[in-house]
Amino acid sequence: MDYLPLYFNLKGRRCLLVGGGDIALRKARFLFAVEAQVHIVTLALCDELKNLADQHGGTYRLGPYQDEDLDDLVLVVAATDNQPLNEQISRLAQQKNIPVNVVDNPPLCSVILPAIIDRSPIVVSISSGGKSPVLARMIRSQIESMVPAAYGKLSAIAGSFRDRLKARMPDVDDRKNFWEDVLQGPIAEMVYSGKPEVAEKMLAEKIDTLEDPQPQGEVYLVGAGPGDPDLLTFKALRLMQKADVVLYDRLVASEIVDLTRRDAERIYVGKRRADHAVPQEGINQLLVKYASQGKRVLRLKGGDPFIFGRGGEEIEELAEHNIPFQVVPGITAASGCASYAGIPLTHRDYAQSVRFVTGHLKNGTSNLPWDELVHTGQTLVFYMGLVGLRDICSQLIANGRSAETPIAIIQQGTTANQRVVTGTLATMPDQVEQEKIKAPTLLIVGEVVELRDKLAWFEMT
Ligand code: SAH
Repeated sequence: MDYLPLYFNLKGRRCLLVGGGDIALRKARFLFAVEAQVHIVTLALCDELKNLADQHGGTYRLGPYQDEDLDDLVLVVAATDNQPLNEQISRLAQQKNIPVNVVDNPPLCSVILPAIIDRSPIVVSISSGGKSPVLARMIRSQIESMVPAAYGKLSAIAGSFRDRLKARMPDVDDRKNFWEDVLQGPIAEMVYSGKPEVAEKMLAEKIDTLEDPQPQGEVYLVGAGPGDPDLLTFKALRLMQKADVVLYDRLVASEIVDLTRRDAERIYVGKRRADHAVPQEGINQLLVKYASQGKRVLRLKGGDPFIFGRGGEEIEELAEHNIPFQVVPGITAASGCASYAGIPLTHRDYAQSVRFVTGHLKNGTSNLPWDELVHTGQTLVFYMGLVGLRDICSQLIANGRSAETPIAIIQQGTTANQRVVTGTLATMPDQVEQEKIKAPTLLIVGEVVELRDKLAWFEMT
């Protein structure tokens, strides 16, 4: 290891920044962020840096650097494009034992600035020892995606309860277990979902009622998107890797189920048309059962849980049993299929609105408001429309939508098996039979379908 990472308290301490351009600006942001007392010496100062300095009480002098500028400093940063000058500053600073950073020139540095993830008070720093700052920044992005933005808030809350817990729980190991439990449980989830006040209340209560160690389960109702695992959200992935029990149905691709925690119990609950391995009521009860045992239960649903996903029914049951839950939106089939098939759902010239409709009709076709569905300038997206396709097309025509209206059917959208067939309301029912289209499929009806010829440069079939 070439460098020892140290966190430097610069609050109110005098730092010198030599240079006044974009690179100096970037460094200045860090220095001002930690409330250093920054003095800038430069021949020319860019406006943004000037504003920043004015805003944070920084000082500057327009003119050439002089060796006396190094007096009484705790840090100097040289950000000029004048190499001999950078060398001069570095040499003298090191003679005087002042930590020096010369931008983009590791041999002249006694300290280097790492890539930073700031979730204060949590700060993660990554350094390549000046060898590859780009790689360090790429690693930062990867870690950033794994560290929820709310970690800062969470650690601040935990910090504010440390003494209170210590008073009630003298044993260090017990406290360690307690915090592990809190930081991975419903209290932390409350913070992530933007309710820190509730989290604080729960934490206070948990500490005050410590004699009663009831494990508290919770349920995550998570949208897994339409198929392509890359369309999962960070939040979905995080909860998938946390849950003890996973309930998933047929619409969730196996590659996605494989991303759940390895040792989690995985339960298939079916949900093909008319093949409900576990009926809805049973699913609701399973969620309640496992959560009541103190488990973290993941209910993985295809697409978005609140779009034809019966998510509402599941959380109603949870609410009745006072089980904490959260709902994580997913990319719904309409968005996923439309993008991957090159069909924009709205377009200034062709469609000013889009309507998601269920094609799964309980009592024949009569219960859809067909007169509203035939308006032009409106894209229709039918979910679960394959079985009723013939009816859907003929009803739309009978109620006044042109038989020539373009329609696309997308089978297994966003997956490696995606197929797209386009035609018109008049031709599609026969095409679907000829092409032997299978579920899951999505129908998109409207003029926007024609844009596909121009836009679908990429298709996975
Ligand atoms: N909650 C889901 C929809 C559940 S209803 C969502 O937001 O996407 C099930 C219907 O969704 C299927 O019958 C089909 O119409 C549609 N669907 C889901 N995934 C699909 C996919 N990958 N390709 C095409 N249609 C899909």
